[in-house]
Amino acid sequence: MKKQNKLNRRGFLKSSVIGATGLVVGQNVLAGTIKTETTEEEKNEKIIYRTLGKTGMKLPIVNMGVMRADNPNLVKAALEKGIKHLDTAHGYQEGRNEEMLGKLLQDYPRDSFTIATKIHPPGLDRETGMYSEEATEEAFLEKFKISLERLRLEHVDILFHHMPPTKEALFHEPTMKAMKKLKKAGKAKLLGISVHRNEPELIEAAVESGVLDVVLTAYNFKQDHMEKLNEAINKAAKAGLGIIAMKTMAGGFYDKERQHPVNTKAALKWALQNPNVHTSIPGFTSFDMLEESFGIMENPELTDEEKKDLEAGATTASLYCNGCNKCLDLCRNHLPVPDLMRAYMYTYGYRNLEKAHDLLVSLDLPEDPCKNCRECTISCTSGFNVAEKIKDVSRLMGVPEDFIT
Ligand code: SF4
Ligand code: SF4
Repeated sequence: MKKQNKLNRRGFLKSSVIGATGLVVGQNVLAGTIKTETTEEEKNEKIIYRTLGKTGMKLPIVNMGVMRADNPNLVKAALEKGIKHLDTAHGYQEGRNEEMLGKLLQDYPRDSFTIATKIHPPGLDRETGMYSEEATEEAFLEKFKISLERLRLEHVDILFHHMPPTKEALFHEPTMKAMKKLKKAGKAKLLGISVHRNEPELIEAAVESGVLDVVLTAYNFKQDHMEKLNEAINKAAKAGLGIIAMKTMAGGFYDKERQHPVNTKAALKWALQNPNVHTSIPGFTSFDMLEESFGIMENPELTDEEKKDLEAGATTASLYCNGCNKCLDLCRNHLPVPDLMRAYMYTYGYRNLEKAHDLLVSLDLPEDPCKNCRECTISCTSGFNVAEKIKDVSRLMGVPEDFIT
């Protein structure tokens, strides 16, 4: 017989009331249709399961974002512990991330894990937020073919359209066509989008599409548009979409010197208090971090101390750009400021220079992006001095790639 685990709706509401700092996740979540299912046997293993919307895919609430892990032994340890779902992308480590997984997963029965990869259509015009003519159906299919070859698999469980910046991009016809084709052919069991910013609008568009099954969204205690985000998540969960949380650790540190770490254990617990978040993919990079993330299933309730910690952290400036997009219309040079802030977080929070460098190069910006701008016109909702951070991180653009990889 299946039993409801401790993180039911009532428990969520009780443990999420953290006061007037925006940490209260709204009443709207009450209307969700969440199911959390854990058998007696699974309970003994201290793994909590939830089902990914109407997809029927039952997963532990903690899985693994592989982006930052280049150590197959860490992935192996995660699978052996009971983590079931692995999240990678076509572009991670220029394909080496998928290759590493492909080699490792040869030793595992195909039904012992699930895997997601993400494809970013080529040719994004950052000013209009739309793809150029380069982004054909064939180009998307070709990228996916390469991903499957690297992964040495016949199919992936979830295929994400990686980071469409706008609703129009999400509905981009050649991309949609390619994705539908892959699902029909059984090469991708489920389809979804991954979103780093403008989340509420994009999640609602995913519901509207009638085609997508899963949303992978940034979700953490630092986001300032929480009410809208929860409304969108609630709507998507009600419509049967699976919701996967990423960026739960909000950059990992409050400062670039890494002297003031985020309470990552509490931050992950916080995200999972929402019963409409079906699972999470923390990007741990060490065995200790694996133990910490996996271990939260032993006691997922937030302690009073953890609540206080997050409450204080919610109003402390950090490395995390909350993706509100408010700066986009304010920048005199029309810079992709949220992307630049993400590169800054990769550089100092994750210490992942390769990822930061890749992102910066993909933005195709001049060496000194703020040149000729006498005064910054941006008042950032996260309190960033964006001009200072842009100047700092853009130094990485000039570093040859082979110095970093
Ligand atoms: S200083 Fe840089 S970020 Fe600020 S408005 Fe000018 S170009 Fe934009
Ligand atoms: S840089 Fe600041 S204003 Fe711009 S998206 Fe991030 S948090 Fe919002």
